[in-house]
Amino acid sequence: MIRKINLTMQMLAAILLSVILTGAVVTSAFSQSSLGHVSDSTKPSALIGSSSDQNQISSASPNYVVRYDTPLAFTHQDHFLLAQPILYENLFWTSADYRYGYFVKEFGTLHRGLDLPAIEGTPVLASADGEVVFSGYGLVYGPGAKNDPYGLSIKIRHTLKHDGHTIYTVYSHLEYTKVKVGDRVETGQIIGRVGMTGKTSGPHLHYEVRILENGCQLHQNPELWLAPAVDHGIVTGRIINRYGYLLNGWKFILTSQETGRYWVISTYDPDIISYHENDPYFQENYVLSDLPAGAYEFAMWYNGVHYTSIIEILPGTVNYINFNGTRGFETSDPPGSTETDFLN
Ligand SMILES: [Zn+2]
Repeated sequence: MIRKINLTMQMLAAILLSVILTGAVVTSAFSQSSLGHVSDSTKPSALIGSSSDQNQISSASPNYVVRYDTPLAFTHQDHFLLAQPILYENLFWTSADYRYGYFVKEFGTLHRGLDLPAIEGTPVLASADGEVVFSGYGLVYGPGAKNDPYGLSIKIRHTLKHDGHTIYTVYSHLEYTKVKVGDRVETGQIIGRVGMTGKTSGPHLHYEVRILENGCQLHQNPELWLAPAVDHGIVTGRIINRYGYLLNGWKFILTSQETGRYWVISTYDPDIISYHENDPYFQENYVLSDLPAGAYEFAMWYNGVHYTSIIEILPGTVNYINFNGTRGFETSDPPGSTETDFLN
């Protein structure tokens, strides 16, 4: 169901002001606005995890994560059109090397999706309304191919478009699928169950977002499309050297100033950039979603210098933060397009 969101600049300013004044009013600001219904602001216990276990997949017990309803767009460049395909999840599910855009050495392939760890049998949900265009084995090798690296998979073509582009989502390594080609599905409908079919080292959902452009399906980073958890934000940007070139496979660290928890981030493999599989607006080479709102230290070694900056992450939106080899970390405006209507 397509819902136009009318967010005036005054409303945006009022919400931003209340976010700055006190983090506590954020949830009520959202629930009273037209942004979407927020049913519960209870924080999952995964929020209190220690920094030592951050790189372990599925180390925490399942938690129900409360997320903003889709579609959500806090500012005109956001496009949170998709709902999480797994409800019970570990918020801090993935390590630096299992995100989008990293070269997986074990399998010799570039990772063009997001790995969501979950126990076998966990229900997999449709991210948005649409039509099933593939269900079964052989998404890569051709229908029926049991040796397909994606295993048992589902692909949905969504009703909602973005900037006129058709959006697809892909769900792989399933144990079981409940839908067949041609079925209409709705947001949140159970379409299958988590498994470990295909090339996988353990049970998880491999999840992809693709947009159709000039007849080609281009992968996109799902972390820029999935509605964030309540009171959490997304950070993206460009990490570039002093000559203006993107730094590939470069690592940096974010540390929460409130909890001390840290996240290690790797920038994309260069192929993501050369195949135009980053966002045309953000032109990013890294994304990290589901960060609890608050102040973070961004830290990175570059050219023998340890650069650090303290930057505030706002909830429910994309925070755009670059590293420039001559100036360090800074917030800035994305290099992309002019204002566009996010739903059309
Ligand atoms: Zn994967």
